[in-house]
Amino acid sequence: MPQKKRVGIFSLTCDEGCSIYLTEIFNHKLIEWLEKIELVYFLSIKDRTEIKDLDIALVEGVVTSEKDKEELEEIRRNSKILIAMGTCAMTSLPSGQRNNFDEEKQEEIKEHVGKYHFLPKALALKDVVQVDGEIPGCPIGEGIFIECFERYL
Ligand code: SF4
Repeated sequence: MPQKKRVGIFSLTCDEGCSIYLTEIFNHKLIEWLEKIELVYFLSIKDRTEIKDLDIALVEGVVTSEKDKEELEEIRRNSKILIAMGTCAMTSLPSGQRNNFDEEKQEEIKEHVGKYHFLPKALALKDVVQVDGEIPGCPIGEGIFIECFERYL
């Protein structure tokens, strides 16, 4: 029997709407997928925090801080395939809406940006690491998620 793919699901800065929607998809697909995957990281349903030897990493949200950047780089180092899940991860919007603030608003948030070690701009995943696949939607579309995910199983 072929080895199961080790899968991790990660949330950077966002409302976590894509991973919540993913649990809806899991409601009717997970039992079938569990024959082919081992779900090793998904904080919504598991408390394991080790990021190691992943075949597929699904990442939602934007890179808005040094901490996000370091986490994403660690995920990349430990994953064969990294998929950007949702429009935030693909483009930085909508969660990175501060990128579109006018000068006055940028001035207002300046102190916070420094205090919490935020990056000057919120970044899409591909601005930081190599991305192997993208699943559009806000939240992700069910059909396109299943089609993309099953391609890597
Ligand atoms: S793409 Fe939309 S649903 Fe997904 S994390 Fe971003 S804001 Fe939330």
